[in-house]
Amino acid sequence: MNDEKMLENNKGIYTIDAHYVRDNLAAVYLIHEGNEAAIVETANLHSLPYVESMLADIGLDENSVKYIFLTHIHLDHAGGAGAYMAKFPHAKLVVHPRGARHMVDPSVLEQSVIGVYGEEFVAKMYGKLQPIDQERLIIASDELEVMLGQRKIICRHTPGHANHHIAIFDTKANAVFTGDVFGVCYPELVNADGERFIFPTTTPVNFNPELMHQSIDLIRDSGVDVFYPTHFGGVTDVVHYAAILHAMVDDFVEITNSCKGESDLTAAICRKLDGYMWQKASDFGIILDRQAFQRSVGVDNQISAQGLAHWLSCS
Ligand SMILES: [Zn+2]
Repeated sequence: MNDEKMLENNKGIYTIDAHYVRDNLAAVYLIHEGNEAAIVETANLHSLPYVESMLADIGLDENSVKYIFLTHIHLDHAGGAGAYMAKFPHAKLVVHPRGARHMVDPSVLEQSVIGVYGEEFVAKMYGKLQPIDQERLIIASDELEVMLGQRKIICRHTPGHANHHIAIFDTKANAVFTGDVFGVCYPELVNADGERFIFPTTTPVNFNPELMHQSIDLIRDSGVDVFYPTHFGGVTDVVHYAAILHAMVDDFVEITNSCKGESDLTAAICRKLDGYMWQKASDFGIILDRQAFQRSVGVDNQISAQGLAHWLSCS
């Protein structure tokens, strides 16, 4: 038994580092109930051995996995889905209706990512995305309930970051897996009191501030004790972080609007976002220096800037 891993246990929920790009960037979550397990998120295929190792640690195996939930089909969440489904023969994949066809035929998804990142990167990062048998899908209508033994799990549609996004509520743990709609919260982003720094993520191409506000409210008003953003690990004090996220979503929009008319809109937004994020982090009392902070969030700022520029050009 690995003690470090066991410390992450919260009412049957385990946080597994997918070691995706770097440590503590993307989590795969394991829910353990009786002799069954559910998995939330799949990072990429290279994360599978860490999940198998965790299953073995808690006395389960590949036949124990009943469900695999995807919060949405961005590839840092869904890139490993085909490989996971091949490894776990009894699992059903639970996915938003808008994401389902891309899991059955991942070629469109794969091509769109190759278009952005190039073939070599995608092959190294994700391998060949494997199609999933339609019969193994459970389409997550809003408020869908599934049972993992005695544990009721409820899926809620939570657009704003992506229109194929769900949040997954674990009623026994009184916790929610929030994917990317309730912020990013890397464990290294803390102040001297150990509080966590949070920020929204506005990846292309579905960012919608009104819907993100609504989804943040849905999660806040659910009364959960803990939220699990995919990036990264469980966080308490949901109401407090909801208020911060609401304000930061508005700030992101204001920054974007202030860049209207710039010839390179994405670059202009990214420059302002870098400055804004560092200001917020400094006010928060972050323990990192600016370089270390930028190493942690720089790529997020770039991706969010792309999403914000896309939103502005469509609105
Ligand atoms: Zn995403």
